[in-house]
Amino acid sequence: MKQIKKKILFGEYVSGVGLKKALSKKPDEVVEEVKKSGLRGRGGAGFPTGLKWEFALKEKGDEKYVICNADEGEPGTFKDRKLLMEQPEKVIEGLTIAGYAIGAKQGYIYLRGEYIYILPTLEKTIEQLKKENLLGKNILDSGFDFDIEIRLGAGAYVCGEEFALIESMNGYRGEPRNKPPFPTQKGFRDKPTVVNNVETLCFIPYILSKGAEWFKSFGTEGSTGTKLFSISGDIEHPGVYELELGVTLNEVLELVGARNPKAVQVGGASGICVAKKDFDKPISFQGLPPGGSIIVFGENRDMLKVLKNFLEFFVEESCGQCTPCREGNYRLLEGVEMLEKGECSVRYVRELLTLCDVMKTSSKCGLGQTSPNCFLSILENFKDEIIYR
Ligand code: SF4
Repeated sequence: MKQIKKKILFGEYVSGVGLKKALSKKPDEVVEEVKKSGLRGRGGAGFPTGLKWEFALKEKGDEKYVICNADEGEPGTFKDRKLLMEQPEKVIEGLTIAGYAIGAKQGYIYLRGEYIYILPTLEKTIEQLKKENLLGKNILDSGFDFDIEIRLGAGAYVCGEEFALIESMNGYRGEPRNKPPFPTQKGFRDKPTVVNNVETLCFIPYILSKGAEWFKSFGTEGSTGTKLFSISGDIEHPGVYELELGVTLNEVLELVGARNPKAVQVGGASGICVAKKDFDKPISFQGLPPGGSIIVFGENRDMLKVLKNFLEFFVEESCGQCTPCREGNYRLLEGVEMLEKGECSVRYVRELLTLCDVMKTSSKCGLGQTSPNCFLSILENFKDEIIYR
Protein backbone atom coordinates (compact mmCIF):
# COMPACT_ATOMS: atom_id res chain seq x y z
CA MET A 1 0.00 0.00 0.00
CA LYS A 2 3.05 2.30 -0.20
CA GLN A 3 1.79 3.92 -3.36
CA ILE A 4 -1.50 4.90 -1.80
CA LYS A 5 -0.22 6.87 1.18
CA LYS A 6 1.94 9.61 -0.40
CA LYS A 7 0.15 12.82 -1.37
CA ILE A 8 0.99 15.98 -3.28
CA LEU A 9 -2.21 17.88 -4.09
CA PHE A 10 -3.92 16.82 -0.87
CA GLY A 11 -0.75 17.59 1.09
CA GLU A 12 0.77 20.79 2.43
CA TYR A 13 0.61 23.98 0.31
CA VAL A 14 1.59 27.60 0.94
CA SER A 15 0.16 30.07 -1.58
CA GLY A 16 2.72 32.05 -3.60
CA VAL A 17 5.87 30.07 -2.74
CA GLY A 18 6.06 28.30 -6.11
CA LEU A 19 5.30 31.53 -7.97
CA LYS A 20 8.03 33.42 -6.11
CA LYS A 21 10.53 30.71 -7.00
CA ALA A 22 9.42 30.76 -10.64
CA LEU A 23 9.83 34.55 -10.85
CA SER A 24 13.39 34.25 -9.50
CA LYS A 25 14.25 32.11 -12.54
CA LYS A 26 14.32 32.89 -16.27
CA PRO A 27 11.30 31.59 -18.23
CA ASP A 28 13.38 28.92 -20.00
CA GLU A 29 14.67 27.70 -16.61
CA VAL A 30 11.07 27.30 -15.40
CA VAL A 31 10.25 25.31 -18.53
CA GLU A 32 13.35 23.17 -17.98
CA GLU A 33 12.34 22.39 -14.38
CA VAL A 34 8.86 21.28 -15.51
CA LYS A 35 10.40 19.19 -18.29
CA LYS A 36 12.79 17.53 -15.80
CA SER A 37 9.86 16.66 -13.50
CA GLY A 38 8.37 14.39 -16.17
CA LEU A 39 4.91 15.88 -15.53
CA ARG A 40 2.43 14.75 -18.18
CA GLY A 41 -0.98 16.29 -18.82
CA ARG A 42 -3.67 15.03 -16.49
CA GLY A 43 -6.55 15.72 -18.89
CA GLY A 44 -6.34 12.35 -20.62
CA ALA A 45 -3.88 12.63 -23.51
CA GLY A 46 -0.81 12.64 -21.23
CA PHE A 47 1.35 14.97 -23.35
CA PRO A 48 4.55 16.13 -21.54
CA THR A 49 3.69 19.53 -20.00
CA GLY A 50 7.21 21.01 -20.11
CA LEU A 51 7.53 20.16 -23.80
CA LYS A 52 4.23 21.86 -24.59
CA TRP A 53 5.44 24.99 -22.76
CA GLU A 54 8.75 24.87 -24.61
CA PHE A 55 6.97 24.84 -27.99
CA ALA A 56 4.99 27.96 -27.01
CA LEU A 57 8.02 29.71 -25.49
CA LYS A 58 9.99 29.26 -28.73
CA GLU A 59 7.25 30.81 -30.86
CA LYS A 60 7.95 34.44 -31.81
CA GLY A 61 5.64 37.31 -30.86
CA ASP A 62 4.53 39.20 -27.75
CA GLU A 63 0.93 38.04 -27.72
CA LYS A 64 0.55 34.57 -26.25
CA TYR A 65 -2.09 32.94 -24.07
CA VAL A 66 -2.47 30.25 -21.44
CA ILE A 67 -5.80 28.58 -20.85
CA CYS A 68 -6.88 26.38 -17.97
CA ASN A 69 -9.12 23.65 -19.35
CA ALA A 70 -11.82 23.37 -16.68
CA ASP A 71 -14.36 21.81 -19.06
CA GLU A 72 -14.54 18.59 -17.07
CA GLY A 73 -17.16 16.50 -18.88
CA GLU A 74 -16.02 12.87 -18.92
CA PRO A 75 -18.78 10.71 -17.39
CA GLY A 76 -17.86 9.73 -13.83
CA THR A 77 -15.21 12.46 -13.50
CA PHE A 78 -15.51 15.08 -10.77
CA LYS A 79 -11.92 15.57 -9.55
CA ASP A 80 -11.33 18.96 -11.24
CA ARG A 81 -14.52 20.25 -9.64
CA LYS A 82 -13.03 19.44 -6.23
CA LEU A 83 -9.81 21.30 -7.05
CA LEU A 84 -11.68 24.33 -8.41
CA MET A 85 -13.94 24.50 -5.38
CA GLU A 86 -11.45 23.70 -2.64
CA GLN A 87 -8.06 24.77 -4.02
CA PRO A 88 -8.75 27.58 -6.54
CA GLU A 89 -5.63 29.54 -5.53
CA LYS A 90 -3.48 26.56 -6.56
CA VAL A 91 -5.08 26.42 -10.03
CA ILE A 92 -4.52 30.15 -10.49
CA GLU A 93 -0.92 30.02 -9.24
CA GLY A 94 -0.17 27.21 -11.72
CA LEU A 95 -1.74 29.20 -14.55
CA THR A 96 0.26 32.32 -13.59
CA ILE A 97 3.52 30.35 -13.62
CA ALA A 98 2.57 28.88 -17.01
CA GLY A 99 1.99 32.44 -18.31
CA TYR A 100 5.39 33.58 -17.04
CA ALA A 101 7.13 30.53 -18.53
CA ILE A 102 5.82 30.98 -22.08
CA GLY A 103 5.66 34.80 -22.12
CA ALA A 104 1.88 35.33 -21.81
CA LYS A 105 0.31 38.25 -19.99
CA GLN A 106 -3.23 36.97 -20.18
CA GLY A 107 -4.71 33.70 -18.97
CA TYR A 108 -8.21 32.25 -19.14
CA ILE A 109 -10.13 29.64 -17.23
CA TYR A 110 -12.58 27.86 -19.56
CA LEU A 111 -15.13 26.66 -17.06
CA ARG A 112 -17.66 23.95 -17.84
CA GLY A 113 -21.09 25.58 -18.20
CA GLU A 114 -22.64 23.20 -15.67
CA TYR A 115 -20.04 24.38 -13.11
CA ILE A 116 -21.39 27.95 -13.12
CA TYR A 117 -21.90 27.67 -9.36
CA ILE A 118 -18.07 27.65 -8.96
CA LEU A 119 -17.77 31.00 -10.75
CA PRO A 120 -18.16 33.20 -7.61
CA THR A 121 -15.44 31.19 -5.81
CA LEU A 122 -13.04 31.69 -8.71
CA GLU A 123 -13.84 35.40 -9.06
CA LYS A 124 -13.36 35.94 -5.34
CA THR A 125 -10.02 34.11 -5.40
CA ILE A 126 -8.80 36.17 -8.36
CA GLU A 127 -9.65 39.39 -6.49
CA GLN A 128 -7.97 38.15 -3.31
CA LEU A 129 -4.77 37.14 -5.14
CA LYS A 130 -4.65 40.57 -6.78
CA LYS A 131 -4.79 42.18 -3.33
CA GLU A 132 -1.90 39.94 -2.25
CA ASN A 133 0.10 41.03 -5.34
CA LEU A 134 0.13 37.41 -6.58
CA LEU A 135 -1.83 38.38 -9.70
CA GLY A 136 -2.27 41.54 -11.78
CA LYS A 137 0.34 44.27 -12.31
CA ASN A 138 3.98 43.86 -11.27
CA ILE A 139 3.47 40.53 -9.47
CA LEU A 140 5.66 40.28 -6.33
CA ASP A 141 7.53 43.38 -7.62
CA SER A 142 9.03 41.30 -10.42
CA GLY A 143 7.84 43.48 -13.30
CA PHE A 144 5.67 40.59 -14.58
CA ASP A 145 2.01 41.47 -15.34
CA PHE A 146 -0.57 38.72 -15.62
CA ASP A 147 -4.35 38.72 -15.47
CA ILE A 148 -7.01 36.02 -15.68
CA GLU A 149 -10.51 36.02 -17.16
CA ILE A 150 -13.11 33.29 -16.89
CA ARG A 151 -15.08 32.02 -19.89
CA LEU A 152 -18.06 29.71 -19.54
CA GLY A 153 -18.64 26.72 -21.81
CA ALA A 154 -22.13 25.82 -22.98
CA GLY A 155 -22.30 22.11 -22.16
CA ALA A 156 -20.60 20.37 -25.11
CA TYR A 157 -18.35 17.45 -24.09
CA VAL A 158 -16.20 17.92 -27.20
CA CYS A 159 -15.10 21.37 -25.96
CA GLY A 160 -12.78 19.53 -23.56
CA GLU A 161 -10.69 18.88 -26.72
CA GLU A 162 -8.21 21.75 -26.87
CA PHE A 163 -8.95 22.99 -30.38
CA ALA A 164 -12.72 22.78 -29.88
CA LEU A 165 -12.23 24.76 -26.66
CA ILE A 166 -10.19 27.41 -28.49
CA GLU A 167 -12.75 27.63 -31.33
CA SER A 168 -15.47 28.13 -28.72
CA MET A 169 -13.41 30.88 -27.07
CA ASN A 170 -12.83 32.48 -30.48
CA GLY A 171 -16.60 32.75 -30.82
CA TYR A 172 -17.13 29.91 -33.29
CA ARG A 173 -18.81 26.50 -32.98
CA GLY A 174 -16.81 24.34 -30.59
CA GLU A 175 -15.39 21.93 -33.15
CA PRO A 176 -11.96 20.28 -33.34
CA ARG A 177 -9.59 21.39 -36.13
CA ASN A 178 -7.02 19.46 -38.11
CA LYS A 179 -3.46 19.67 -36.78
CA PRO A 180 -0.92 21.11 -37.57
CA PRO A 181 -0.80 23.96 -36.82
CA PHE A 182 -0.96 23.07 -33.13
CA PRO A 183 -2.40 25.45 -30.52
CA THR A 184 1.14 26.27 -29.35
CA GLN A 185 1.68 27.71 -32.87
CA LYS A 186 -1.75 29.11 -33.73
CA GLY A 187 -4.33 28.93 -30.97
CA PHE A 188 -6.58 31.51 -29.30
CA ARG A 189 -6.90 34.58 -31.58
CA ASP A 190 -4.43 32.73 -33.86
CA LYS A 191 -1.63 33.33 -31.30
CA PRO A 192 0.58 30.74 -29.56
CA THR A 193 -1.54 29.19 -26.82
CA VAL A 194 -0.98 26.60 -24.12
CA VAL A 195 -4.01 24.70 -22.85
CA ASN A 196 -3.47 22.80 -19.59
CA ASN A 197 -5.89 20.78 -17.50
CA VAL A 198 -6.87 21.97 -13.97
CA GLU A 199 -5.05 19.14 -12.21
CA THR A 200 -1.91 19.55 -14.35
CA LEU A 201 -1.69 23.21 -13.33
CA CYS A 202 -2.12 22.37 -9.65
CA PHE A 203 1.15 20.37 -9.69
CA ILE A 204 3.14 23.32 -11.05
CA PRO A 205 3.56 25.35 -7.79
CA TYR A 206 4.88 22.19 -6.07
CA ILE A 207 7.36 21.42 -8.86
CA LEU A 208 8.73 24.96 -8.65
CA SER A 209 8.85 25.19 -4.87
CA LYS A 210 10.10 21.66 -4.09
CA GLY A 211 11.93 20.81 -7.31
CA ALA A 212 11.65 18.32 -10.15
CA GLU A 213 13.61 15.64 -8.28
CA TRP A 214 11.17 15.75 -5.35
CA PHE A 215 8.23 15.37 -7.76
CA LYS A 216 9.93 12.43 -9.45
CA SER A 217 10.14 10.61 -6.11
CA PHE A 218 6.41 9.94 -6.59
CA GLY A 219 5.09 7.46 -9.11
CA THR A 220 7.20 5.44 -11.54
CA GLU A 221 10.02 6.30 -13.93
CA GLY A 222 7.81 6.91 -16.95
CA SER A 223 4.77 8.09 -14.97
CA THR A 224 5.95 10.55 -12.35
CA GLY A 225 3.82 12.07 -9.61
CA THR A 226 0.41 11.34 -8.23
CA LYS A 227 -2.99 11.40 -9.92
CA LEU A 228 -6.48 12.27 -8.81
CA PHE A 229 -9.16 9.70 -9.52
CA SER A 230 -12.91 10.19 -9.27
CA ILE A 231 -14.03 6.73 -8.14
CA SER A 232 -17.67 5.69 -8.24
CA GLY A 233 -19.97 2.76 -8.92
CA ASP A 234 -20.57 -0.37 -6.83
CA ILE A 235 -18.24 0.51 -3.95
CA GLU A 236 -18.52 1.45 -0.29
CA HIS A 237 -16.47 4.67 -0.37
CA PRO A 238 -16.95 6.74 -3.54
CA GLY A 239 -15.01 10.00 -3.86
CA VAL A 240 -11.88 11.69 -5.13
CA TYR A 241 -8.64 9.87 -4.27
CA GLU A 242 -5.05 10.97 -4.76
CA LEU A 243 -2.86 7.98 -5.61
CA GLU A 244 0.66 7.52 -6.90
CA LEU A 245 0.86 6.51 -10.55
CA GLY A 246 1.84 2.85 -10.76
CA VAL A 247 -0.76 1.82 -8.18
CA THR A 248 -2.46 -1.44 -9.17
CA LEU A 249 -6.17 -1.63 -9.80
CA ASN A 250 -6.41 -4.27 -7.05
CA GLU A 251 -4.97 -1.81 -4.51
CA VAL A 252 -7.49 0.81 -5.61
CA LEU A 253 -10.40 -1.60 -5.33
CA GLU A 254 -9.38 -2.61 -1.82
CA LEU A 255 -9.09 1.03 -0.77
CA VAL A 256 -12.56 2.03 -2.00
CA GLY A 257 -14.33 -1.02 -0.64
CA ALA A 258 -15.26 -2.81 -3.85
CA ARG A 259 -16.85 -6.16 -3.03
CA ASN A 260 -16.46 -8.81 -5.71
CA PRO A 261 -16.30 -6.41 -8.69
CA LYS A 262 -16.93 -7.87 -12.11
CA ALA A 263 -15.44 -5.09 -14.25
CA VAL A 264 -13.87 -1.66 -13.91
CA GLN A 265 -13.99 1.17 -16.44
CA VAL A 266 -10.70 3.06 -16.19
CA GLY A 267 -9.95 6.34 -17.94
CA GLY A 268 -13.57 7.43 -18.27
CA ALA A 269 -16.06 6.52 -20.98
CA SER A 270 -13.31 6.82 -23.59
CA GLY A 271 -11.02 4.54 -21.56
CA ILE A 272 -11.20 0.76 -21.35
CA CYS A 273 -13.26 -1.76 -19.44
CA VAL A 274 -10.98 -4.04 -17.42
CA ALA A 275 -11.97 -7.58 -16.37
CA LYS A 276 -10.84 -9.42 -13.20
CA LYS A 277 -7.88 -11.12 -14.91
CA ASP A 278 -6.21 -7.70 -15.30
CA PHE A 279 -6.94 -6.19 -11.86
CA ASP A 280 -3.30 -6.71 -10.85
CA LYS A 281 -2.04 -4.32 -13.57
CA PRO A 282 -0.67 -0.87 -12.71
CA ILE A 283 -2.42 2.37 -13.60
CA SER A 284 0.09 4.55 -15.43
CA PHE A 285 0.88 6.05 -18.82
CA GLN A 286 2.45 2.71 -19.70
CA GLY A 287 -0.26 0.55 -18.10
CA LEU A 288 -4.01 0.93 -17.61
CA PRO A 289 -5.00 4.45 -18.78
CA PRO A 290 -4.75 7.03 -15.96
CA GLY A 291 -7.74 9.17 -16.95
CA GLY A 292 -9.78 11.00 -14.35
CA SER A 293 -12.43 8.43 -13.55
CA ILE A 294 -12.74 4.86 -12.36
CA ILE A 295 -16.20 3.27 -12.42
CA VAL A 296 -16.64 -0.08 -10.66
CA PHE A 297 -19.29 -2.59 -11.80
CA GLY A 298 -20.49 -5.25 -9.36
CA GLU A 299 -21.19 -8.87 -10.23
CA ASN A 300 -24.87 -8.28 -11.02
CA ARG A 301 -24.32 -5.56 -13.63
CA ASP A 302 -25.47 -6.26 -17.18
CA MET A 303 -22.43 -5.35 -19.33
CA LEU A 304 -24.55 -4.84 -22.44
CA LYS A 305 -26.50 -2.13 -20.62
CA VAL A 306 -23.21 -0.58 -19.47
CA LEU A 307 -21.99 -0.54 -23.09
CA LYS A 308 -25.27 0.91 -24.36
CA ASN A 309 -25.04 3.71 -21.81
CA PHE A 310 -21.54 4.73 -22.96
CA LEU A 311 -22.51 4.60 -26.65
CA GLU A 312 -25.64 6.71 -26.11
CA PHE A 313 -23.34 9.30 -24.59
CA PHE A 314 -20.98 9.31 -27.60
CA VAL A 315 -23.82 9.47 -30.13
CA GLU A 316 -25.15 12.51 -28.26
CA GLU A 317 -21.76 14.22 -27.92
CA SER A 318 -20.17 13.58 -31.35
CA CYS A 319 -19.95 17.00 -33.01
CA GLY A 320 -20.88 15.38 -36.33
CA GLN A 321 -18.05 16.97 -38.28
CA CYS A 322 -16.45 13.75 -39.55
CA THR A 323 -18.16 10.62 -40.86
CA PRO A 324 -16.29 7.83 -38.98
CA CYS A 325 -17.32 9.27 -35.62
CA ARG A 326 -20.78 10.61 -36.51
CA GLU A 327 -21.93 7.43 -38.30
CA GLY A 328 -19.67 4.97 -36.47
CA ASN A 329 -20.98 5.66 -32.97
CA TYR A 330 -24.54 5.50 -34.27
CA ARG A 331 -23.89 2.11 -35.94
CA LEU A 332 -22.27 0.71 -32.79
CA LEU A 333 -25.27 1.76 -30.71
CA GLU A 334 -27.62 0.27 -33.31
CA GLY A 335 -25.64 -3.01 -33.09
CA VAL A 336 -26.00 -3.05 -29.30
CA GLU A 337 -29.75 -2.56 -29.63
CA MET A 338 -29.85 -5.49 -32.07
CA LEU A 339 -27.91 -7.60 -29.57
CA GLU A 340 -30.43 -6.67 -26.88
CA LYS A 341 -33.24 -8.00 -29.06
CA GLY A 342 -31.25 -11.11 -30.06
CA GLU A 343 -31.20 -9.92 -33.69
CA CYS A 344 -27.47 -9.46 -34.22
CA SER A 345 -25.44 -12.21 -35.91
CA VAL A 346 -21.86 -13.04 -34.93
CA ARG A 347 -20.84 -12.07 -38.47
CA TYR A 348 -22.31 -8.57 -37.99
CA VAL A 349 -20.53 -8.21 -34.65
CA ARG A 350 -17.26 -8.91 -36.53
CA GLU A 351 -18.13 -6.14 -39.00
CA LEU A 352 -18.71 -3.78 -36.09
CA LEU A 353 -15.28 -4.66 -34.70
CA THR A 354 -13.76 -3.70 -38.07
CA LEU A 355 -15.74 -0.46 -37.94
CA CYS A 356 -14.13 0.26 -34.54
CA ASP A 357 -10.68 0.03 -36.17
CA VAL A 358 -11.77 2.44 -38.91
CA MET A 359 -13.08 4.91 -36.30
CA LYS A 360 -9.88 4.74 -34.27
CA THR A 361 -7.64 5.42 -37.25
CA SER A 362 -9.68 7.90 -39.27
CA SER A 363 -11.68 10.06 -36.86
CA LYS A 364 -10.56 13.66 -36.65
CA CYS A 365 -10.21 14.06 -32.88
CA GLY A 366 -9.82 12.11 -29.67
CA LEU A 367 -13.56 11.62 -29.21
CA GLY A 368 -14.02 9.47 -32.31
CA GLN A 369 -10.59 7.87 -31.91
CA THR A 370 -11.37 6.62 -28.40
CA SER A 371 -15.16 6.12 -28.33
CA PRO A 372 -14.85 2.56 -29.78
CA ASN A 373 -12.67 1.54 -26.79
CA CYS A 374 -15.69 0.64 -24.65
CA PHE A 375 -17.14 -1.53 -27.44
CA LEU A 376 -13.82 -3.30 -28.07
CA SER A 377 -12.92 -3.93 -24.42
CA ILE A 378 -16.40 -4.98 -23.26
CA LEU A 379 -16.81 -7.29 -26.26
CA GLU A 380 -13.37 -8.80 -25.66
CA ASN A 381 -13.87 -9.40 -21.94
CA PHE A 382 -17.57 -10.27 -21.81
CA LYS A 383 -18.14 -11.92 -25.19
CA ASP A 384 -20.21 -14.81 -23.83
CA GLU A 385 -22.46 -12.55 -21.76
CA ILE A 386 -23.02 -10.14 -24.64
CA ILE A 387 -23.26 -12.28 -27.76
CA TYR A 388 -24.78 -15.49 -26.38
CA ARG A 389 -27.46 -13.99 -24.12
S1 SF4 B 1 -14.14 12.67 -34.13
FE1 SF4 B 1 -16.27 13.11 -33.59
S2 SF4 B 1 -16.16 14.81 -32.15
FE2 SF4 B 1 -14.17 14.70 -33.22
S3 SF4 B 1 -14.36 16.05 -34.99
FE3 SF4 B 1 -15.00 14.03 -35.70
S4 SF4 B 1 -17.25 14.02 -35.40
FE4 SF4 B 1 -16.42 15.71 -34.19
